[in-house]
Amino acid sequence: EIVAPLPTTFFFRKSFPSVRYRNEETRKRILITGGAGFVGSHLVDKLMLDGHEIIALDNYFTGRKKNIEHWIGHPNFEMVHHDVVNPYFVEVDQIYHLASPASPPHYMYNPVKTIKTNTLGTINMLGLAKRVKATVLLASTSEVYGDPEVHPQPETYWGHVNTIGPRACYDEGKRVAESLMVAYNKQENVQIRIARIFNTFGPRMHMNDGRVVSNFIIQALQDKPITVSYYNVLFVLFYFLQIYGNGTQTRSFQYVTDLVDGLIKLMNSNYSLPVNIGNPEEHTIGQFAAIIRDLVPGSQSEIINQESQQDDPQQRRPDIRRAAEQIQWRPQVLMKDGLLKTIEYFRAEIDRNKRGGKP
Ligand code: NAD
Ligand code: UDP
Repeated sequence: EIVAPLPTTFFFRKSFPSVRYRNEETRKRILITGGAGFVGSHLVDKLMLDGHEIIALDNYFTGRKKNIEHWIGHPNFEMVHHDVVNPYFVEVDQIYHLASPASPPHYMYNPVKTIKTNTLGTINMLGLAKRVKATVLLASTSEVYGDPEVHPQPETYWGHVNTIGPRACYDEGKRVAESLMVAYNKQENVQIRIARIFNTFGPRMHMNDGRVVSNFIIQALQDKPITVSYYNVLFVLFYFLQIYGNGTQTRSFQYVTDLVDGLIKLMNSNYSLPVNIGNPEEHTIGQFAAIIRDLVPGSQSEIINQESQQDDPQQRRPDIRRAAEQIQWRPQVLMKDGLLKTIEYFRAEIDRNKRGGKP
């Protein structure tokens, strides 16, 4: 005999962060592809708190349910396990199209799939936008500028990309995605927004993300020598902050909440040309390693240089005048404040992993 259990809600009702009330007229139905990822999950949070109905679509390649689990069960929230390479049908007002691996080791893992995600996935989202007359925003990237010969990079710069290098699957995938957006706009009158996102960091980056901020923080937090016993032999492993190349290459880092604000402002503007979203504060990777190590109290990690990566862009800094003029956006968070929050996040993650994933 099967006895139906009492619903868990009988004993326990999950509590949610309180969201703004909106009536039918101002409440939007919003699809976020890549919604379980690092940036996507922060966008979910902001739009949920603002009272909209959110569908977070993800294939969980690099995203995690944990990033959005606090909304599961909320009447305004839906999680969809789907791959954007396949068509998807739904009725929505806006589409934030973020689905794509973003860190070099992730997008190089399966380059063919990266190209399919950025081409077929973008066609599917544009086809959906065309059918339901939704506005679609593409999460494009500063990588469309490649290893730039113009510095800082304005949106009018066409870029310097190697079509057959290891980064091509991502760079060219995003460049085609931008071209698809413009073609659907011209030919089918789909409302489009193109955000060229520069390096972004913050809590919920994947532990194995492989991008420089998470790598350096994890390496700085784990500086203590650890001992691994193996066939009764003791090996001592040291952690280093590993710089690829001589460390003179530059990047400009923005905190994730600034990016999310910029994406929402762009979506709700009526501007359809590409807009750089990034923080113009530029550092060499060598300086950046030292900044992170100094922010991790007591870290003794050594900074070492490794072989440089092929086609690694040597300098990158956004020209953000267009964002300021067209969508009245500028970054607000100081890099140091963002880094301290991110270090705390990774410290907690490392502790949680030591406890076998228990809270
Ligand atoms: P992320 O890897 O954390 O998020 C990407 C999400 O997309 C993941 O949840 C992943 O599972 C999902 N995804 C990947 N392929 C998919 C597919 N075929 N179908 C459905 N879901 C799929 O990376 P992120 O940093 O959050 O990046 C989000 C977007 O922003 C990406 O499009 C990326 O190219 C862009 N971007 C990010 C940065 C940055 O510094 N974080 C910089 C430039 C551009
Ligand atoms: N980098 C590094 N050590 C790392 C990871 C990255 O020195 O552990 C360098 C990388 O070669 C690049 C910069 O840091 O010059 C930024 O790399 P990331 O992968 O974060 O993003 P990218 O801007 O290259 O896409």
